[in-house]
Amino acid sequence: MLRIFLAALLFITLSTGALWGSGDGSTLPSQTTLLKVGRLLDVKTGAYLENQGVLVEQGRIKLVGKFESVKRGAPKDAKLIDLSRAVVLPGLIDCHSHLFVSNDGRLDRTSELSEEERMRVAERNALEDLTAGIMTVRNLGNSGVRGDAILRDAINGRKIPGLNILAATRKLTPPGGQPLVDKPVTKEILEREFLTISNTEEARVAVQGAVSAGADVIKVVVDVSTKLLSLEEMKAIVEEAHRAKVKVAAHATTAEGTKRAAEAGVDSIEHGNDASDETFRLMAARGIFLVPTDFTPDHLRQIFAADVERNPKDKEGFEQYVKDYASKRPARLQRALKAGVRIAAGSDVFFIYPGKTRGQASLLMLEALNSEGMSALDCIRAATTNAAELLGWQDRIGTIEAGKFADIIALERDPLKDLSELQRVRFVMKSGYVIRDDWTLQRRIPKNW
Ligand SMILES: [Zn+2]
Repeated sequence: MLRIFLAALLFITLSTGALWGSGDGSTLPSQTTLLKVGRLLDVKTGAYLENQGVLVEQGRIKLVGKFESVKRGAPKDAKLIDLSRAVVLPGLIDCHSHLFVSNDGRLDRTSELSEEERMRVAERNALEDLTAGIMTVRNLGNSGVRGDAILRDAINGRKIPGLNILAATRKLTPPGGQPLVDKPVTKEILEREFLTISNTEEARVAVQGAVSAGADVIKVVVDVSTKLLSLEEMKAIVEEAHRAKVKVAAHATTAEGTKRAAEAGVDSIEHGNDASDETFRLMAARGIFLVPTDFTPDHLRQIFAADVERNPKDKEGFEQYVKDYASKRPARLQRALKAGVRIAAGSDVFFIYPGKTRGQASLLMLEALNSEGMSALDCIRAATTNAAELLGWQDRIGTIEAGKFADIIALERDPLKDLSELQRVRFVMKSGYVIRDDWTLQRRIPKNW
């Protein structure tokens, strides 16, 4: 059903020429659009601004303010989109994505696929992100040598519909790589997915290799079970990356791994499960973001339901894992917040979530943070203003302000009252193109679609 819906949506937008320009080589919509907005969330202040106008020109926001005054500044032929009964937010950002992987629990479905097949998996996930309201992702590995950079370039060249991608290309890891599932990493997968490091020279070469493959960000895995990169190797990675003007996202789960990553001066720590209070204080002082990538116990049970059914003898162990998770993760987030660490949202979704699109599954990251004690507003900030800052894209995305990309979503109800409203995004505008508008489509599409 979903596939049919997406295919239909894509067909409609493509066939009307609305998606990527009119074939004159221009990649931005020539049509100027005026949005009439009922309530616009100012994510910086947390206030709702009522009866707003948003003027969109050449894919960017040109003017925002009271509707009547923006209307006066709009050209006469501007197309009006009526969102006067909607709640409008900036497009959302996922700082920890794996577009090229769609596992079924612990069953690895993608590493055996050909490059072309994996690209199709990624294209579908990217489209599902987009229609759910996620308009920018930082893809942190598992895309082959440079699949995410190829997809990014294809989208930017408007060959396929898509979202903003910051690509990491291959992950930097200790020798042996990082297994995605319980299986050991084969030689072939090792060469395709990882740049392994056993000294500072290799660390520098690995960063240069990723950058020359088109990386916008370096993903480094600091700890894999008992293997850890050294502080010197981490420092070499950060120095080399920052010299190339790219940021460093560090997967670190252990106390020692997070400590080394923070001391080396990475830009974000992914997971940070067992970080000490001292490390959190260092992260706060250095402005290092934490990207928690958490789920609620209920989400975990959904994700692994089929897996547990396949392996009934693992059931007890799985329940124990969920119990530990539920007792440790919220406490870890609270310790980070108490130390003053800023939080950016990242899903780490690399699996199929029953009944949800990739985008909807990824947005559960916000419900998890909410359940761990962050306010709904702070969760939305984690996926907008904070995420934009972590990516270094605060001049382009994260708020609805003049000069920024016209990346806009609309909902029916107030997400500050119920964050799960984000599961029901009704309207998506990406760079000025209407990708989704359930309100008008409901009138246009026959019932049986
Ligand atoms: Zn990950």
